[in-house]
Amino acid sequence: METVASLYVHAPFCSRRCYYCDFAVKVGSSSDSNLWIKAIDGELRAISEEQLFNIGDSLETLYVGGGTPSLLSNDSMAKLSSMIGIGRLQGKNFEWTCEANPESFDRDKASAWIRAGVNRISLGVQTFQGPALRWMGRLHSAKEPRESVRIAREEGFSNVSVDIIFGLPPSLKRDLEKDFEELMSLEVDHVSLYGLTVENGTPLGRAVSEGKQDIISDSQYREEYLFAVDWLESNGYEAYEVSNFARPGKESKHNANYWSGKPYLGLGNGAHSYLHPIRRWNIRDWDSYCEKALEHSLPLENQENIGNKEHRLEYLWLRLRTHTGLRIDDFTAIVQNKFADWVVNGLAVERDGNICLTPRGWLIMDRLTLELEEQLTSN
Ligand code: SF4
Repeated sequence: METVASLYVHAPFCSRRCYYCDFAVKVGSSSDSNLWIKAIDGELRAISEEQLFNIGDSLETLYVGGGTPSLLSNDSMAKLSSMIGIGRLQGKNFEWTCEANPESFDRDKASAWIRAGVNRISLGVQTFQGPALRWMGRLHSAKEPRESVRIAREEGFSNVSVDIIFGLPPSLKRDLEKDFEELMSLEVDHVSLYGLTVENGTPLGRAVSEGKQDIISDSQYREEYLFAVDWLESNGYEAYEVSNFARPGKESKHNANYWSGKPYLGLGNGAHSYLHPIRRWNIRDWDSYCEKALEHSLPLENQENIGNKEHRLEYLWLRLRTHTGLRIDDFTAIVQNKFADWVVNGLAVERDGNICLTPRGWLIMDRLTLELEEQLTSN
Protein backbone atom coordinates (compact mmCIF):
# COMPACT_ATOMS: atom_id res chain seq x y z
CA MET A 1 0.00 0.00 0.00
CA GLU A 2 1.45 3.36 -1.00
CA THR A 3 0.67 6.72 0.59
CA VAL A 4 -0.35 9.35 -1.97
CA ALA A 5 1.08 12.86 -2.04
CA SER A 6 -1.92 14.41 -3.78
CA LEU A 7 -5.63 13.83 -3.98
CA TYR A 8 -7.94 15.08 -6.74
CA VAL A 9 -11.73 15.08 -6.33
CA HIS A 10 -13.89 15.73 -9.37
CA ALA A 11 -17.12 17.73 -9.00
CA PRO A 12 -18.82 17.23 -12.36
CA PHE A 13 -21.75 19.62 -12.25
CA CYS A 14 -22.11 22.50 -14.72
CA SER A 15 -25.17 24.68 -15.39
CA ARG A 16 -24.59 24.23 -19.10
CA ARG A 17 -21.82 22.94 -21.31
CA CYS A 18 -19.44 25.53 -22.74
CA TYR A 19 -19.07 25.59 -26.52
CA TYR A 20 -15.58 24.07 -26.50
CA CYS A 21 -15.73 21.83 -23.42
CA ASP A 22 -14.78 18.16 -23.54
CA PHE A 23 -14.55 17.54 -19.77
CA ALA A 24 -16.45 14.90 -17.78
CA VAL A 25 -19.40 17.08 -16.77
CA LYS A 26 -23.00 16.53 -15.76
CA VAL A 27 -25.12 19.34 -17.13
CA GLY A 28 -28.26 20.42 -15.28
CA SER A 29 -29.94 23.29 -13.53
CA SER A 30 -28.90 22.03 -10.09
CA SER A 31 -26.10 19.97 -8.63
CA ASP A 32 -26.85 17.03 -6.37
CA SER A 33 -24.40 17.71 -3.55
CA ASN A 34 -25.72 14.94 -1.30
CA LEU A 35 -25.37 12.34 -4.02
CA TRP A 36 -21.86 13.63 -4.80
CA ILE A 37 -20.77 13.27 -1.17
CA LYS A 38 -22.28 9.78 -0.94
CA ALA A 39 -20.60 8.67 -4.17
CA ILE A 40 -17.18 10.01 -3.12
CA ASP A 41 -17.61 8.32 0.26
CA GLY A 42 -18.51 5.04 -1.49
CA GLU A 43 -15.43 5.25 -3.68
CA LEU A 44 -13.23 6.01 -0.66
CA ARG A 45 -14.52 2.86 1.06
CA ALA A 46 -13.72 0.80 -2.04
CA ILE A 47 -10.23 2.33 -2.15
CA SER A 48 -9.63 1.54 1.49
CA GLU A 49 -10.73 -2.09 0.98
CA GLU A 50 -8.46 -2.44 -2.05
CA GLN A 51 -5.40 -1.42 0.04
CA LEU A 52 -3.39 -0.07 -2.90
CA PHE A 53 -3.63 3.68 -2.30
CA ASN A 54 -3.44 5.13 1.19
CA ILE A 55 -4.44 8.67 2.19
CA GLY A 56 -2.16 9.20 5.16
CA ASP A 57 -0.81 12.05 7.25
CA SER A 58 1.74 12.88 4.58
CA LEU A 59 -0.93 13.98 2.09
CA GLU A 60 0.39 17.29 0.73
CA THR A 61 -2.40 18.62 -1.48
CA LEU A 62 -6.10 18.29 -2.24
CA TYR A 63 -7.60 19.72 -5.42
CA VAL A 64 -11.36 19.86 -6.02
CA GLY A 65 -11.86 20.52 -9.72
CA GLY A 66 -14.62 20.20 -12.24
CA GLY A 67 -17.03 20.79 -13.65
CA THR A 68 -17.94 23.61 -11.31
CA PRO A 69 -17.24 22.86 -7.62
CA SER A 70 -18.77 26.22 -6.65
CA LEU A 71 -22.18 24.83 -7.71
CA LEU A 72 -22.08 22.41 -4.76
CA SER A 73 -23.91 23.34 -1.57
CA ASN A 74 -21.93 25.49 0.86
CA ASP A 75 -21.46 22.68 3.39
CA SER A 76 -20.07 20.20 0.83
CA MET A 77 -16.43 21.06 1.47
CA ALA A 78 -16.86 20.63 5.24
CA LYS A 79 -18.36 17.18 4.62
CA LEU A 80 -15.54 16.28 2.24
CA SER A 81 -13.01 17.52 4.78
CA SER A 82 -14.32 15.27 7.55
CA MET A 83 -14.61 12.28 5.21
CA ILE A 84 -10.96 12.58 4.19
CA GLY A 85 -9.77 13.68 7.62
CA ILE A 86 -8.26 16.96 6.49
CA GLY A 87 -8.30 18.36 10.04
CA ARG A 88 -5.17 16.38 10.98
CA LEU A 89 -3.26 17.99 8.09
CA GLN A 90 -3.96 21.63 8.93
CA GLY A 91 -0.89 23.62 9.91
CA LYS A 92 1.33 21.24 7.94
CA ASN A 93 1.65 23.55 4.93
CA PHE A 94 -1.20 21.58 3.38
CA GLU A 95 -2.59 23.06 0.13
CA TRP A 96 -6.30 22.71 -0.60
CA THR A 97 -7.49 24.24 -3.87
CA CYS A 98 -11.10 24.56 -5.01
CA GLU A 99 -12.11 25.65 -8.47
CA ALA A 100 -14.90 28.22 -8.71
CA ASN A 101 -16.74 30.02 -11.47
CA PRO A 102 -17.46 33.69 -10.77
CA GLU A 103 -21.26 33.41 -11.20
CA SER A 104 -21.56 30.77 -8.46
CA PHE A 105 -18.97 32.07 -6.01
CA ASP A 106 -20.37 34.39 -3.35
CA ARG A 107 -19.46 35.52 0.15
CA ASP A 108 -21.29 32.67 1.91
CA LYS A 109 -19.50 30.09 -0.21
CA ALA A 110 -16.11 31.73 0.31
CA SER A 111 -16.59 31.84 4.06
CA ALA A 112 -17.86 28.22 4.19
CA TRP A 113 -14.85 27.06 2.19
CA ILE A 114 -12.43 28.91 4.46
CA ARG A 115 -14.04 27.29 7.51
CA ALA A 116 -13.71 23.87 5.87
CA GLY A 117 -9.98 24.41 5.32
CA VAL A 118 -9.80 25.40 1.63
CA ASN A 119 -6.84 27.77 1.30
CA ARG A 120 -6.48 28.32 -2.45
CA ILE A 121 -9.06 29.36 -5.05
CA SER A 122 -8.78 28.83 -8.77
CA LEU A 123 -11.25 31.06 -10.61
CA GLY A 124 -12.38 30.22 -14.15
CA VAL A 125 -12.22 33.72 -15.62
CA GLN A 126 -10.95 33.10 -19.20
CA THR A 127 -11.53 36.69 -20.45
CA PHE A 128 -13.04 39.98 -19.29
CA GLN A 129 -14.79 40.64 -22.60
CA GLY A 130 -18.54 40.08 -22.95
CA PRO A 131 -18.68 38.93 -26.61
CA ALA A 132 -15.94 36.32 -26.05
CA LEU A 133 -17.57 35.09 -22.82
CA ARG A 134 -20.92 34.72 -24.57
CA TRP A 135 -19.30 32.91 -27.51
CA MET A 136 -17.67 30.44 -25.11
CA GLY A 137 -20.99 29.88 -23.34
CA ARG A 138 -19.67 31.12 -20.00
CA LEU A 139 -22.27 32.39 -17.57
CA HIS A 140 -20.45 35.21 -15.79
CA SER A 141 -20.36 38.85 -16.83
CA ALA A 142 -17.18 40.76 -17.65
CA LYS A 143 -17.35 42.45 -14.21
CA GLU A 144 -17.98 39.43 -11.96
CA PRO A 145 -14.36 38.14 -11.73
CA ARG A 146 -13.29 41.39 -10.02
CA GLU A 147 -16.05 40.93 -7.45
CA SER A 148 -15.07 37.27 -6.92
CA VAL A 149 -11.43 38.17 -6.27
CA ARG A 150 -12.49 40.92 -3.85
CA ILE A 151 -14.76 38.51 -1.93
CA ALA A 152 -12.06 35.83 -1.84
CA ARG A 153 -9.53 38.31 -0.39
CA GLU A 154 -11.97 39.73 2.16
CA GLU A 155 -12.93 36.26 3.37
CA GLY A 156 -9.27 35.36 3.92
CA PHE A 157 -7.90 33.65 0.80
CA SER A 158 -4.25 34.65 0.48
CA ASN A 159 -3.74 32.45 -2.59
CA VAL A 160 -5.96 33.26 -5.57
CA SER A 161 -5.38 31.91 -9.06
CA VAL A 162 -7.26 32.70 -12.27
CA ASP A 163 -7.52 30.80 -15.53
CA ILE A 164 -7.09 32.84 -18.71
CA ILE A 165 -7.63 31.54 -22.22
CA PHE A 166 -5.86 32.56 -25.43
CA GLY A 167 -6.10 31.45 -29.06
CA LEU A 168 -9.74 32.45 -29.56
CA PRO A 169 -11.06 32.76 -33.14
CA PRO A 170 -9.99 36.04 -34.81
CA SER A 171 -13.62 36.84 -35.73
CA LEU A 172 -14.30 37.47 -32.01
CA LYS A 173 -11.85 40.40 -32.06
CA ARG A 174 -10.80 39.66 -28.49
CA ASP A 175 -8.39 42.37 -27.29
CA LEU A 176 -5.72 40.37 -25.44
CA GLU A 177 -3.84 43.44 -24.24
CA LYS A 178 -6.98 44.86 -22.64
CA ASP A 179 -7.59 41.54 -20.89
CA PHE A 180 -4.06 41.53 -19.49
CA GLU A 181 -4.40 45.11 -18.25
CA GLU A 182 -7.55 44.06 -16.42
CA LEU A 183 -5.90 40.89 -15.14
CA MET A 184 -2.88 42.79 -13.73
CA SER A 185 -5.16 45.18 -11.87
CA LEU A 186 -6.65 42.21 -9.95
CA GLU A 187 -3.24 41.46 -8.42
CA VAL A 188 -3.87 37.73 -8.13
CA ASP A 189 -1.14 35.37 -6.93
CA HIS A 190 -1.20 32.87 -9.76
CA VAL A 191 -2.31 32.65 -13.40
CA SER A 192 -2.97 29.53 -15.48
CA LEU A 193 -2.86 30.25 -19.19
CA TYR A 194 -4.57 27.85 -21.59
CA GLY A 195 -4.79 27.83 -25.36
CA LEU A 196 -8.22 27.04 -26.83
CA THR A 197 -8.20 23.52 -28.25
CA VAL A 198 -10.74 22.27 -30.75
CA GLU A 199 -11.94 18.83 -29.62
CA ASN A 200 -13.90 16.49 -31.86
CA GLY A 201 -17.36 15.85 -30.50
CA THR A 202 -17.84 19.33 -29.04
CA PRO A 203 -20.14 21.89 -30.70
CA LEU A 204 -17.01 23.89 -31.53
CA GLY A 205 -15.36 20.85 -33.12
CA ARG A 206 -18.44 20.23 -35.28
CA ALA A 207 -18.70 23.88 -36.34
CA VAL A 208 -15.03 23.92 -37.34
CA SER A 209 -15.27 20.68 -39.33
CA GLU A 210 -18.34 22.01 -41.15
CA GLY A 211 -16.46 25.20 -42.02
CA LYS A 212 -18.85 27.34 -39.96
CA GLN A 213 -16.27 28.56 -37.44
CA ASP A 214 -12.92 30.24 -38.02
CA ILE A 215 -9.91 29.24 -35.94
CA ILE A 216 -6.68 30.99 -35.10
CA SER A 217 -3.63 30.40 -37.32
CA ASP A 218 -0.55 28.69 -35.86
CA SER A 219 1.48 31.88 -36.12
CA GLN A 220 -1.19 33.96 -34.37
CA TYR A 221 -1.51 31.31 -31.63
CA ARG A 222 2.21 31.45 -31.10
CA GLU A 223 2.21 35.24 -31.06
CA GLU A 224 -0.60 35.37 -28.46
CA TYR A 225 1.18 32.87 -26.18
CA LEU A 226 4.47 34.78 -26.30
CA PHE A 227 2.65 38.08 -25.77
CA ALA A 228 0.87 36.68 -22.70
CA VAL A 229 4.06 35.20 -21.22
CA ASP A 230 5.84 38.49 -21.73
CA TRP A 231 3.06 40.42 -19.93
CA LEU A 232 3.08 38.02 -17.02
CA GLU A 233 6.85 37.92 -16.63
CA SER A 234 7.12 41.71 -16.85
CA ASN A 235 4.59 42.00 -14.04
CA GLY A 236 6.29 39.76 -11.51
CA TYR A 237 4.84 36.34 -12.38
CA GLU A 238 7.43 33.64 -12.88
CA ALA A 239 6.80 31.21 -15.75
CA TYR A 240 7.39 28.06 -13.68
CA GLU A 241 5.66 25.77 -16.18
CA VAL A 242 4.41 26.02 -19.75
CA SER A 243 0.90 27.10 -18.63
CA ASN A 244 1.47 28.34 -15.09
CA PHE A 245 2.75 31.62 -13.68
CA ALA A 246 3.18 32.59 -10.06
CA ARG A 247 4.21 35.38 -7.75
CA PRO A 248 7.15 34.22 -5.57
CA GLY A 249 6.14 31.34 -3.30
CA LYS A 250 2.68 30.95 -4.87
CA GLU A 251 3.38 28.07 -7.25
CA SER A 252 0.72 25.33 -7.16
CA LYS A 253 2.08 22.47 -5.07
CA HIS A 254 -0.59 20.14 -6.42
CA ASN A 255 0.56 20.57 -10.01
CA ALA A 256 4.21 20.33 -8.97
CA ASN A 257 3.47 16.92 -7.44
CA TYR A 258 1.97 15.71 -10.73
CA TRP A 259 4.97 16.94 -12.68
CA SER A 260 7.47 15.33 -10.33
CA GLY A 261 5.87 11.88 -10.72
CA LYS A 262 4.63 11.49 -7.11
CA PRO A 263 1.71 9.08 -6.59
CA TYR A 264 -1.75 10.61 -6.65
CA LEU A 265 -5.30 9.40 -6.25
CA GLY A 266 -8.28 10.74 -8.21
CA LEU A 267 -11.85 10.36 -6.96
CA GLY A 268 -15.01 11.05 -8.96
CA ASN A 269 -16.13 10.37 -12.51
CA GLY A 270 -13.34 10.50 -15.07
CA ALA A 271 -10.65 11.06 -12.40
CA HIS A 272 -7.17 9.59 -13.00
CA SER A 273 -4.85 7.96 -10.45
CA TYR A 274 -1.17 7.13 -10.66
CA LEU A 275 1.05 4.82 -8.67
CA HIS A 276 4.06 3.74 -10.68
CA PRO A 277 3.79 1.72 -12.87
CA ILE A 278 -0.02 1.80 -12.74
CA ARG A 279 -2.13 4.53 -14.27
CA ARG A 280 -5.88 4.09 -14.08
CA TRP A 281 -9.00 6.12 -14.59
CA ASN A 282 -12.60 6.11 -13.48
CA ILE A 283 -15.81 5.72 -15.48
CA ARG A 284 -16.45 9.04 -17.19
CA ASP A 285 -20.24 9.09 -17.19
CA TRP A 286 -21.57 10.47 -13.90
CA ASP A 287 -24.62 8.17 -13.60
CA SER A 288 -22.65 5.00 -14.36
CA TYR A 289 -19.89 6.12 -11.99
CA CYS A 290 -22.46 6.69 -9.21
CA GLU A 291 -23.98 3.25 -9.68
CA LYS A 292 -20.62 1.62 -8.90
CA ALA A 293 -19.45 4.04 -6.23
CA LEU A 294 -22.72 3.86 -4.29
CA GLU A 295 -22.39 0.10 -3.96
CA HIS A 296 -18.81 0.62 -2.70
CA SER A 297 -17.22 -0.94 -5.80
CA LEU A 298 -14.21 0.55 -7.53
CA PRO A 299 -15.69 2.68 -10.35
CA LEU A 300 -12.80 1.96 -12.71
CA GLU A 301 -13.02 2.35 -16.46
CA ASN A 302 -9.56 0.99 -17.23
CA GLN A 303 -5.91 0.89 -16.26
CA GLU A 304 -2.54 0.50 -17.90
CA ASN A 305 0.96 -0.42 -16.84
CA ILE A 306 3.51 2.13 -17.91
CA GLY A 307 6.50 0.48 -19.55
CA ASN A 308 10.09 1.70 -19.15
CA LYS A 309 10.20 3.49 -22.51
CA GLU A 310 6.92 5.28 -21.90
CA HIS A 311 7.99 6.14 -18.38
CA ARG A 312 11.21 7.72 -19.63
CA LEU A 313 9.38 9.69 -22.33
CA GLU A 314 6.87 10.92 -19.78
CA TYR A 315 9.65 11.88 -17.37
CA LEU A 316 11.42 13.93 -20.06
CA TRP A 317 8.18 15.63 -21.09
CA LEU A 318 7.13 16.43 -17.52
CA ARG A 319 10.53 17.84 -16.64
CA LEU A 320 10.81 19.91 -19.81
CA ARG A 321 7.45 21.52 -19.20
CA THR A 322 8.70 23.01 -15.91
CA HIS A 323 11.26 25.74 -15.39
CA THR A 324 13.50 23.23 -13.58
CA GLY A 325 14.18 21.30 -16.78
CA LEU A 326 16.69 18.46 -16.96
CA ARG A 327 20.09 18.01 -15.31
CA ILE A 328 22.64 18.36 -18.13
CA ASP A 329 25.23 16.09 -16.48
CA ASP A 330 22.77 13.18 -16.58
CA PHE A 331 23.14 12.99 -20.37
CA THR A 332 25.87 11.91 -22.78
CA ALA A 333 28.03 14.35 -24.75
CA ILE A 334 25.94 13.78 -27.91
CA VAL A 335 22.73 14.71 -26.12
CA GLN A 336 24.46 17.70 -24.53
CA ASN A 337 25.30 18.88 -28.06
CA LYS A 338 21.58 18.78 -28.85
CA PHE A 339 20.91 20.90 -25.77
CA ALA A 340 23.53 23.36 -27.03
CA ASP A 341 21.65 23.59 -30.37
CA TRP A 342 18.44 24.36 -28.49
CA VAL A 343 20.23 27.18 -26.66
CA VAL A 344 21.66 28.63 -29.89
CA ASN A 345 18.16 28.59 -31.42
CA GLY A 346 16.57 30.34 -28.42
CA LEU A 347 14.54 27.27 -27.45
CA ALA A 348 16.30 26.68 -24.13
CA VAL A 349 18.65 28.25 -21.60
CA GLU A 350 21.19 26.73 -19.28
CA ARG A 351 20.42 27.49 -15.62
CA ASP A 352 22.31 26.13 -12.61
CA GLY A 353 23.51 23.11 -14.57
CA ASN A 354 20.05 22.37 -15.95
CA ILE A 355 18.67 22.73 -19.47
CA CYS A 356 15.37 24.62 -19.30
CA LEU A 357 13.03 25.42 -22.18
CA THR A 358 12.20 29.05 -22.96
CA PRO A 359 8.61 30.04 -23.86
CA ARG A 360 9.59 29.58 -27.53
CA GLY A 361 10.80 26.09 -26.69
CA TRP A 362 7.59 25.33 -24.78
CA LEU A 363 5.61 26.06 -27.94
CA ILE A 364 7.25 23.03 -29.58
CA MET A 365 7.81 21.00 -26.42
CA ASP A 366 6.27 17.78 -27.78
CA ARG A 367 8.60 17.81 -30.77
CA LEU A 368 11.68 18.55 -28.65
CA THR A 369 10.81 15.73 -26.21
CA LEU A 370 10.47 13.24 -29.05
CA GLU A 371 13.76 14.40 -30.60
CA LEU A 372 15.45 13.88 -27.26
CA GLU A 373 13.91 10.44 -26.79
CA GLU A 374 15.02 9.41 -30.31
CA GLN A 375 18.54 10.55 -29.54
CA LEU A 376 18.56 8.56 -26.29
CA THR A 377 17.24 5.46 -28.01
CA SER A 378 19.82 5.61 -30.80
CA ASN A 379 22.74 6.10 -28.39
S1 SF4 B 1 -17.57 25.58 -16.85
FE1 SF4 B 1 -15.68 24.46 -17.33
S2 SF4 B 1 -16.16 22.30 -16.99
FE2 SF4 B 1 -18.13 23.42 -17.10
S3 SF4 B 1 -18.76 23.25 -19.21
FE3 SF4 B 1 -17.61 25.17 -19.04
S4 SF4 B 1 -15.49 24.64 -19.55
FE4 SF4 B 1 -16.61 22.72 -19.15
